[in-house]
Amino acid sequence: MAHRYQVIIVGGGPVGVGLSIDLGLRGISCAVIERRLQLSNIPKGQGLAQRTLEHFYFWGIADELRAARVMPQGHPIGQVTVYENLMSEFWHAAPDRVLLQPYYFQANERLPQYETEKVLRRRMAELACVDSYLGWTATSVEQDAQGVRVVASKDGTEEVWEGDYVVGCDGGHSMVREQADIERSGTDWDELVALVVFRSPELHEALKRFPDRSGYRVMHPDLKGYWMFFGRVDVGEEFFFHAPVPPGATEDLDVPGLLYRAVGREFECEIQHVGFWDLRVQVADEYRSGRVFIAGDAAHTHPPYGGFGLNNGLEDAVNLGWKLAAVLAGWGGDRLLASYSTERQAIFRDVGEDIIGGWIRDDRRLLEQYSPDTDREAFERHFEEMAKGYGHRLRDFEPHYEGSSVVIGPPDGVISAHGSHTFTARAGHHLPPQKLSSGSNVFEEMGSGFTLVALDARDEAVRAFEHAATSLKVPLRTIRDTFAGGREAYEVRMILVRPDQYVVWTGDTAPEDVEQVMRTVTGRL
Ligand SMILES: Cc1cc2nc3c(=O)[nH]c(=O)nc-3n(C[C@H](O)[C@H](O)[C@H](O)COP(=O)(O)OP(=O)(O)OC[C@H]3O[C@@H](n4cnc5c(N)ncnc54)[C@H](O)[C@@H]3O)c2cc1C
Repeated sequence: MAHRYQVIIVGGGPVGVGLSIDLGLRGISCAVIERRLQLSNIPKGQGLAQRTLEHFYFWGIADELRAARVMPQGHPIGQVTVYENLMSEFWHAAPDRVLLQPYYFQANERLPQYETEKVLRRRMAELACVDSYLGWTATSVEQDAQGVRVVASKDGTEEVWEGDYVVGCDGGHSMVREQADIERSGTDWDELVALVVFRSPELHEALKRFPDRSGYRVMHPDLKGYWMFFGRVDVGEEFFFHAPVPPGATEDLDVPGLLYRAVGREFECEIQHVGFWDLRVQVADEYRSGRVFIAGDAAHTHPPYGGFGLNNGLEDAVNLGWKLAAVLAGWGGDRLLASYSTERQAIFRDVGEDIIGGWIRDDRRLLEQYSPDTDREAFERHFEEMAKGYGHRLRDFEPHYEGSSVVIGPPDGVISAHGSHTFTARAGHHLPPQKLSSGSNVFEEMGSGFTLVALDARDEAVRAFEHAATSLKVPLRTIRDTFAGGREAYEVRMILVRPDQYVVWTGDTAPEDVEQVMRTVTGRL
C-alpha cells in the first residue's frame, strides 16, 4: 500500500528539511525522502544571512542554531580581500553584511552546514506531521490532475508515496527536475575549482596580521577574476579553501603547492579532504511544472561566491511553504503557487548572472588594467574602490517582488535581487523590523498567516480588512499601535504583510475594495 501525505519532499538536505519544518508547523503532513543516512562532513555553506536567521526564528530554532556555532561568539564574520597572496601589502577588510543589520530582525551567523543540518533535523523530528525516510532513494516521479506519485527504493525494496504535491529538494543533479522536464540555463565559466579542507595552526598565526575576520579572498593577477578563497571553520586550526585548477585535475594534484601559492609562502598543514566543483551558473527556467516544484540547489547552482546557495534555498522553502499550505487549506489560489516560480526564479537569475558574474567580471577588469608593478598609485586607488564595491554589491542585494501578480505594488515594478535598504514599508519588499510600544518587536507579534500592522489607523479601515479576511477564511492577525516611537519610519499607517514577512499592500486608509486586495494577495483573482 502507498504511503499518503499532502506534500512529498525528495531530498533531505538543508532545504528539504527546512521546507518540511515550515510545512509541518502549518499542520501540513509531509514525507521527506532522503538517500543519505549520514550528513556530509564538508564544512561548506557556512555564511547564513540575517534574513536566513529570521527563518530560524520563526521555526523556533534560532537559539539552537547560535549555540551550535563553532567559532567563538563575537568573532567577526566578514572577510579580507588581498592582492596576489596572503602576505601581500595590498589588502582591505571592508565592512559587509554587518552594515545591513538594522534592516533585519536577526543577526547573521556562521557555522559549518553539517551543524546547521543537525539543528534542522532535530526540529523536523519534533513535528508529528513530518515523517522522514532516511536511506531511501527516489527513482521516479509522476503526476496527474489528482496528485503525485513517487517511487523510492532501499536495499532492493521499492515503495510508493502518494501526495497532492511533490517538491524536489534533491540538489544540483535533481532527479525530480529532470523527470519534470524542467530545463536549466546559465553561464558556464568553464573552470574546475578544487575544494580543500585542512588544519593549520600556523596559518591561523599568519592571519593575525589582519583584523579578525572569517574569510580571506585572494585576487591573483593570473586567475582572470576567479577567486582563491580561505574560510575559517573554527578560530585556530581548521580551514576550507577553494581555487581554480587545471582542467582534468584529480586528487593527486599538488594541493600543498596550491595552498602555498595563495598564502605566499610554505607552511605546515594537514590536508583532510580534496574535492572539485565546476564554476558555472545554472538556473532552472521554471521552478514548477504542475504539481511538481523544485527548490534549493535543484533549482539553482552557482559558484559559492558570497554565500548565496543555502540562503537562497531556504528562502525558496519559506516562499513556497506558506503558499502550498494556503492552497491545501483552501484559502490560496493557483496563482499563489505560480508566483513561487516567478518570484524566486527571477531573483536567482540576478544573483547568478549579475551579482556573482559581476564580481568575476569586475575583478578580471581590475586585474587586467592595473598592476602595482606598472602604476602603484592607480592600482591602489582602484583596488580600494573594488574592495568597497564588494560591500556595495552585498548591500544592493535586496531581493524584492515588486511586479509579482500577488503583490499590490508600483505598476511598473519588476521582481529583482537588486534594491535598496530602507525603513519605509514598501509593497513587494521585506518588512523592516520596528519596536512596538509594548517593547517587543513587530516580528515577535506576527502570526503564521497574514499580519495587518495598523498604526493609528481608523477602526473602520482595520475592521474592513478583518471582515474580508474572515469571509475569505484567510488567517489574519492585527497589530495595533501608534504612528510614533520610530514606527513613523514606515511612512504609512497600514501595512499588510504576508506569512513570509514580505509586504503586499500599504496605505493610510482602507482601499475601496478590500476583498479584492485580499483575493489578489492570496492568488484568488
Ligand atoms: C565550498 C562551498 C561553500 C559554500 N558556502 C556557502 C555559504 O557560505 N552560504 C550559502 O548559503 N551556501 C553555500 N554553499 C552552497 C550550499 O552548500 C548549497 O547551496 C546547499 O547545500 C543546498 O542545499 P540543498 O538542500 O538544496 O541541496 P543539497 O545540500 O545538495 O541536498 C540535497 C539532498 O538530496 C538528496 N538526494 C539527492 N537525490 C536524491 C534522490 N533521488 N532520492 C533521495 N534523496 C536524494 C541528497 O542526498 C542530499 O542530501 C557552499 C557550497 C560549497 C560547495
